[in-house]
Amino acid sequence: MSEATVSVKGGGKAEIKVIEDRCKGCGFCIEFCPMHVLDYSPKINARGAHPPYAKNPDACTACGLCEQLCPDLAIYIVKRKEV
Ligand code: SF4
Ligand code: SF4
Repeated sequence: MSEATVSVKGGGKAEIKVIEDRCKGCGFCIEFCPMHVLDYSPKINARGAHPPYAKNPDACTACGLCEQLCPDLAIYIVKRKEV
């Protein structure tokens, strides 16, 4: 199975990384992101699910909730260094 990671930088406080083929499409990350950064991608992955994508990456505050909630370890963030 491919483990390709899709990475979105945007202007927010973190780079959002989605390992699309791990996602089962539960939607936790999308529903609970306090900044409404994420939405379902139109793509269908290896599990037949629509993985999340960052529709509004500039709003990400790097809170890490999406990463903590994902049951399948399919989404994570890399915080930007403060400058
Ligand atoms: S780190 Fe927080 S603000 Fe950024 S996408 Fe995840 S839940 Fe949303
Ligand atoms: S929480 Fe994880 S498994 Fe659920 S939709 Fe988000 S990335 Fe996919």
